[in-house]
Amino acid sequence: MKVTVIGMWGGFPKVDEPCSGYLIEHNEEKVLLDCGSGVAVKIGKYMDVNTLRHIVVSHSHYDHASDIGVMMFSRLVNTITEKTDVVLTIYEPYNEISSQHPESVKFSEFKSYEEDSVLKIGDMSIRFLEMNHPVKTFAMKISTDDKTVVYTADGTISEELKEFSQGADLLITECSLYEWADGENTGHMNITDCIELVKDAGVKETILTHLPHYGEINDLLETAKQSGIENVQLAQPGLTIEV
Ligand SMILES: [Zn+2]
Repeated sequence: MKVTVIGMWGGFPKVDEPCSGYLIEHNEEKVLLDCGSGVAVKIGKYMDVNTLRHIVVSHSHYDHASDIGVMMFSRLVNTITEKTDVVLTIYEPYNEISSQHPESVKFSEFKSYEEDSVLKIGDMSIRFLEMNHPVKTFAMKISTDDKTVVYTADGTISEELKEFSQGADLLITECSLYEWADGENTGHMNITDCIELVKDAGVKETILTHLPHYGEINDLLETAKQSGIENVQLAQPGLTIEV
């Protein structure tokens, strides 16, 4: 699988740096995990947006889902103008985002998933784990025959998340907070939680993402490295990893 970070800020985007969006490619198939603010602008750097068939949304918070409507209108206009005839399918937590849909748009469709759902997209399978977060949120595990990528989305650390992430080739973990800030009360993880998750799950490579807008984010990376974690990077737009 090829993983490309399109955006990685928590909360709101910066100039040229969107919120959550991760493009996963395997054999000819592509799937976008989350579609936060700014992703619709930047995804064209990495693929022809008219060929995108699948977006899986972890939860309805704006920094993960606000560009869904924009992607739908893009597909609407570009089908009318005959630039594409591909249907865009948006997978969302059951009963989570549906109330926020703009008017229904041709050439886009919504499908709900739940914790026991398994999505088959090309040769990839996607499984889900419900997270502890203020709205219904799911971590995702994307598997091929021999590789696994886990994306935590937003939420607190748990034994279930460690089990879900066990042995992953790549963990894309939210790291919203510095070590002095408690994640439990806000439904997020701090860097100490991330380190515990990486070590206890025995993951091979880690991307720290959903990064804070304050402080020095390189301190997060340094803290991780000082704990003994080796294959760890901060997410940044355009970061590409092959697993
Ligand atoms: Zn959230």
